[in-house]
Amino acid sequence: MTARLIDGKAVAQQIEQEVVEGIARLGLRPGLVAVRVGNDPASEIYVRNKAKKARELGLEGTELVFPETMSEGELLAEVDRLNRDDSVDGILVQLPLPKQIDAKKVIDAISPAKDVDGFHPVSVGMLHLGRPTLVPCTPAGVVRLIESTGETIEGKNAVVIGRSDIVGKPMGALLLQRNATVTICHSRTRDLAAVARQADILVAAIGRPILVTEDFVKPGAIVIDVGMNRVGPELAASLAHDAEKTRLLEKNGSVLLGDVDFARVRERASWITPVPGGVGPMTIAMLMKNTVTAAERRRRNS
Ligand code: NAP
Repeated sequence: MTARLIDGKAVAQQIEQEVVEGIARLGLRPGLVAVRVGNDPASEIYVRNKAKKARELGLEGTELVFPETMSEGELLAEVDRLNRDDSVDGILVQLPLPKQIDAKKVIDAISPAKDVDGFHPVSVGMLHLGRPTLVPCTPAGVVRLIESTGETIEGKNAVVIGRSDIVGKPMGALLLQRNATVTICHSRTRDLAAVARQADILVAAIGRPILVTEDFVKPGAIVIDVGMNRVGPELAASLAHDAEKTRLLEKNGSVLLGDVDFARVRERASWITPVPGGVGPMTIAMLMKNTVTAAERRRRNS
C-alpha cells in the first residue's frame, strides 16, 4: 500500500478562509501582537511570518521586538499593558526567552482570554477538562489534518510519541476528547516500536530525524509527522533510500526531515503528512483562527 498524502497547505488554506469569514462576521480587525525578545534567528523568522500572515488575512498583526537585555519585570509590564489594551485580542510571546526571564512567569501573566498559543495554565486546565478554550495551535492543526482524511477518530487507537507541553500532551487531550483510545509515549517508553504498532493513528512529535521507521507502523495507519529537523551530510548514509531527500541534501548541503522515515513509512500507512508541507503550514493558520476566536469570545463576554 502507498499512503495518500495529507496536504497541509491545502487544509491550512481552508482554515485561512474560515479566518477571513470570521473577520467579516466580526466586522472589525482582530489584533494579534507577537512579542520577541532578543535576536534568536529562528524566532525572528517565526514572529515575522506570524505578523505578516495576520496582516494578509485582515487581522491587525503587530510585531513587538525588545532587546536581549530586557529584564523580566519589563517584559511582565509589557504583557500587562497588552492585557489591558482593548485593541489587542491575541498575545503571543515567542519562546525561547533570554535566560534572565522565566518563561513560565511570562506565560502565566498573559490574560487567558488573549492566550492564543493556549499555553496558560487556565487554558491547559480547560483543555484537559474538555471545556471550550484556546487550544495550542500545532495539535489543533493535527486534528484538522486527521479530520481532512474523512476517517473517524472515535474508537481508534491513537499513539502520540512525545509529551511536551506544547505538542504531545495537548495532542493526547484532543484525541481523547474525540473518543480515541490514547497512549502517550516518551523517552522512557519500553519497546517504543511495539507500542507504536498498535496505533491506527500515529502522531510523532519527538524532534529526532527519521526515528519512526516502518517497524513502528501498523499497515493502514494514519501517520502524522510533527517533527522538523534540519540535518546536514552526517545523515547522508541513513537517507540513501530516499532519492528526493538525498537530492535536496546534495543540492543545499542540508535538508528538512520529519521524525518519520517518510520514504519507507509511506509504503505502509494509509495516510501520511509530508515534511515540509504537512503540519507546518497548519500551526500559523490555527494561530490566526485562535485570534479570531479570542476576539469573538471577548466581545460576546463584554
Ligand atoms: P520537545 O519539547 O523536545 O519534546 C520531545 C518529546 O519527545 C519529549 O517528550 C521526549 O521525551 C520525546 N522523545 C525524545 N527522544 C525520544 C525517543 N528517542 N523516543 C521516544 N520519545 C522521545 O519537542 P516538541 O517541542 O514537542 O517538538 C517536537 C518536534 O516537533 C520537534 O522536531 C519540533 O521542531 C517539532 N515542532 C513542529 C511544529 C510545527 O509547526 N510543525 C510545532 C512544534 C514543534 P521525554 O519527555 O521523556 O524527554
